[in-house]
Amino acid sequence: MPTSDSRDVFDDAIKRLDRAFGYARIDEEALEKLKHPKAILQVSIPLRMDDGSLRIFEGYRVRHDDTRGPTKGGIRYHPNVNLDEVMALAFWMTIKCAVVGIPYGGAKGGITVNPKELSRLELERLSRGFIRQMADFLGPDTDIPAPDVYTNPMVMGWMMDEYSKIARRHTPAVITGKPVELGGSLGRDDATGRGAFYCIQELEKRNGWKPEEVRVAVQGFGNAGQALAGLLHEARYKIVAVSDSTGGIYEPAGFDVPSLVRFKNESRKLKAVYCHDSVCEVIDARQITNEELLTLDVDLLVPAALENQITAENVEQIKAPVIVELANGPTSSEADAALGDRHTLVVPDVLANAGGVVVSYFEWTQNKQGFYWTLEEVHQRLAAIMTREFNSVYDFAEEHGIDMRTAAYAHALNRIGTSIEALGTQHYFNEQTPPVRSST
Ligand code: NAD
Repeated sequence: MPTSDSRDVFDDAIKRLDRAFGYARIDEEALEKLKHPKAILQVSIPLRMDDGSLRIFEGYRVRHDDTRGPTKGGIRYHPNVNLDEVMALAFWMTIKCAVVGIPYGGAKGGITVNPKELSRLELERLSRGFIRQMADFLGPDTDIPAPDVYTNPMVMGWMMDEYSKIARRHTPAVITGKPVELGGSLGRDDATGRGAFYCIQELEKRNGWKPEEVRVAVQGFGNAGQALAGLLHEARYKIVAVSDSTGGIYEPAGFDVPSLVRFKNESRKLKAVYCHDSVCEVIDARQITNEELLTLDVDLLVPAALENQITAENVEQIKAPVIVELANGPTSSEADAALGDRHTLVVPDVLANAGGVVVSYFEWTQNKQGFYWTLEEVHQRLAAIMTREFNSVYDFAEEHGIDMRTAAYAHALNRIGTSIEALGTQHYFNEQTPPVRSST
């Protein structure tokens, strides 16, 4: 467990900036600015438990950079949440919003808690307590949270409701990922997985893949992993392995994903149980560990759980030639270098999982307008952004002979750099001015 002042994850995350700097048009001052989060708030949240006792939980919110707009990023509930992790996640949000060209900076928040140990009433009180402590830090034009690991639409609804009470006005645009009945957007539930699916469809076109021949392993079977696995299954990809925090299952012939999703969500267990009417059959899939899943002989590997899963320790055993990062930060920078040497194609998190924040942006836009879109409109607009930005990053990588992560960072730095420079850098103030570039 990292100490409260360790910065290993954040320092590893910002290493990517230096690598991308050589390919980006950004002033060194602007780059330096991105190595320091704009603001950090740490709070202690007292929670009255159902048995009458009092427990105190640590909560964090980091606003990384707001040059391009209000900051945006999820709230995670997990026992390992710490400031270092939240800083890294906030940094990735700044890059991600710039990669897909939406008018936000990056933020992230979290509470160090195992939500599985709390009752529903305790969870509601904790979520509302977090907002009471954070209210001055948040706002629809300053910082806008969303769901992340182990938080869901209902948690977002409680948070929006608490904020609205404090602000004494209905404020749906303060948070995204809300239930549709409380101002959420249609299509937000599967947006992260769907965004990655649109990226994979572009890979399919460019590489002439036949979906039924592509074997896929998905680590993490929550919101993001389930949605992508479901869409790939529908498109006839073969999902041969999935896992959750308790371990995984492997079936070389491929799983019926809707049955896995149904059983997991009804029983909280990952098991291949296929039901037709009231008759259910248990498929004898091989039990595997999360470590084994990562090293399976598959064509496409999708880490969709937590950060630091592919590291210097296991990278040599990774066999998949293509990795699509649905989780944030699943690959350490050391592992990244090794994958690059082996020409493994990695579609990086800041692009592959950006569908969630894109539809969060749509939700915020709809809340501000008070005018709501159809599901088809949401899908069309999401597809347009994801395919446009995927192809820009892919072409940039090919043009410069670099990996897609470096290309995505350079693409983002070009956008962030022009915004920072528009406010003036040393060149302007020293009057050696290169003219301000217009952004793409
Ligand atoms: P979730 O809480 O819905 O699901 C997380 C899943 O990961 C669960 O199946 C859980 O059992 C599993 N898991 C937890 N620890 C694990 C471990 N050690 N090994 C394997 N599996 C483990 O969360 P989510 O929203 O699907 O988020 C998953 C990842 O996607 C995170 O990295 C998150 O930051 C990222 N992400 C999510 C969104 C979103 O909109 N939900 C957007 C962008 C990125």
